[in-house]
Amino acid sequence: MKDDRILAGIACSQVLAKLSDYFDGELDANECAKIEAHVRQCDNCARFGGAFTTIVAGLRRSIEAPSSSASAATARLRSRLGLPE
Ligand SMILES: [Zn+2]
Repeated sequence: MKDDRILAGIACSQVLAKLSDYFDGELDANECAKIEAHVRQCDNCARFGGAFTTIVAGLRRSIEAPSSSASAATARLRSRLGLPE
């Protein structure tokens, strides 16, 4: 990537590569601390990390409450297709 910078001992490309492991809690405390320190100092990663956090939070919400929204969407689709509910 063109804006690869090394901050807090870790490069942007490494932060981005490890971000999903970070959110899955698969990194050790040392790596988490490096990533957090990098993101605090790096606009690029802060922007990307912020967007990523929002996406993950949205996914978690939809996983936690799947049945109501899924059945509502199915009902809408069925009525649009003229199928019985
Ligand atoms: Zn960065």
